Amino acid sequence: MITKPKGTYDILPEESLKWAKLENVFRRVCAICNYEEIRTPIFEQYETFHRDNKDSSDMVNKETYDFIDRGERKMTLRPEGTAGCVRAYVENKLYVNNKVTKLFYYGPMFRYERPQKGRYRQFYQFGLEAYGPKSPYLDVDIISTAIMLFKAIGLKNLRVRINSLGDKESRDNYRDVLVKYFTENIDSLCADCKDRLTKNPLRILDCKVDKNNDVLLNAPQIGKYLNNQSKEHFNKVLALLDELNIEYVVDPHLVRGLDYYSDTVFEVEYISDALGNQNVICAGGRYNDLVKDLGGPDIPGVGLAFGMDRILLALANEGINIVNPKSLHYFLITLGEEAKEAGEKIIYNSRLKGFKCDMSYQNASLKAQFKEADYNNAMFTLILGEDELTNKKINVKNNHTKEQVSIEIDKINEYLLGEINKCQNCGGKCHEKSTN
Ligand code: ATP
Ligand code: MG
Repeated sequence: MITKPKGTYDILPEESLKWAKLENVFRRVCAICNYEEIRTPIFEQYETFHRDNKDSSDMVNKETYDFIDRGERKMTLRPEGTAGCVRAYVENKLYVNNKVTKLFYYGPMFRYERPQKGRYRQFYQFGLEAYGPKSPYLDVDIISTAIMLFKAIGLKNLRVRINSLGDKESRDNYRDVLVKYFTENIDSLCADCKDRLTKNPLRILDCKVDKNNDVLLNAPQIGKYLNNQSKEHFNKVLALLDELNIEYVVDPHLVRGLDYYSDTVFEVEYISDALGNQNVICAGGRYNDLVKDLGGPDIPGVGLAFGMDRILLALANEGINIVNPKSLHYFLITLGEEAKEAGEKIIYNSRLKGFKCDMSYQNASLKAQFKEADYNNAMFTLILGEDELTNKKINVKNNHTKEQVSIEIDKINEYLLGEINKCQNCGGKCHEKSTN
């Protein structure tokens, strides 16, 4: 038997309903907040992510799926969405109108990781990107859109952690202090962090090896080294969040896994042990130089990505069900070949009118077909046998009220619609409900 690749999983029908629902909620929130969809390729040229070896992150250096295609071109399966979006933004000159461009994307990302719960080699991100002036209002537009999403799906027990990495000048000042500090404490650093000391010392603060390492906990904090401009930007972001009653904690040691961030960075954590080290379900920040680095004009950006896999795990852990169970308006049971042929026509006509319906395709007993109707959670079971066919009628059983009536075949859609609308069982919501 051929099995799925390590670190991937199949999303089976029952689960995929939840994915579809979550995606729909995201799309609705994006429409409300005026983010438009962009779809970029799943693979990009290698250089889109490996920019002159500027990035020292694990993701870029150890986790990408790189390959040479049959035309000897070096390619990378996208490990994240931002770089591809920025590449498309620049290549398609979306900046020409000098407007703010607000985009969202959704799709699979690929990282060669050590698979565990909430950490996969193919996983799904829903992301937001905003390109425009370096305005704290845009940072808050992004963060508040994330909050709206979490409100829409009813996920609580969340903590927003936020920090500022400042502009380049601030970061350079801080970097010097940090290098001095970590050099003095080099023996307490893990092998990777010793390497980071020369490449990107800020990333040492993001070390996953020992989060309780005193040397990390006592490291100098960037706040002290922010210049006035960076401080002003960050304080404005915090003040605006306060205005919106969005709760956050300032985490002075929060840096992000990718090297392109500047100024605001943030993460949304799901407060629970259920996901272990994988409890960050949304993360993002500002990247002021990425558009320029990818050959575009000097336009800053800010964005975030939701880890869809982890959000679904968190929802399951909270016992929150976002989808209605699978259901049909009706399931048709037939007895005999002639009834089956007529039945095929009946369901086709109903489907054209928008009814969700199906019939049994097995030559099964009446009992087995009733079971199939149950399995499909049908509101009505329609029964068509030879006698009914002769009388041009069909038996309709309402599975909510258990009532059974005989209806003319030609009137069936009309009748069902009337019944669905007046259904007392669910306040007339059956029709809506069964469309998920
Ligand atoms: P982590 O620290 O958990 O490795 P990250 O900093 O590498 O996360 P980002 O690159 O910021 O993650 O991606 C944004 C979000 O995508 C993460 O907060 C997480 O929810 C999700 N994510 C990242 N990597 C994976 C993965 N391998 N499997 C599932 N979800 C992931
Ligand atoms: Mg990672």
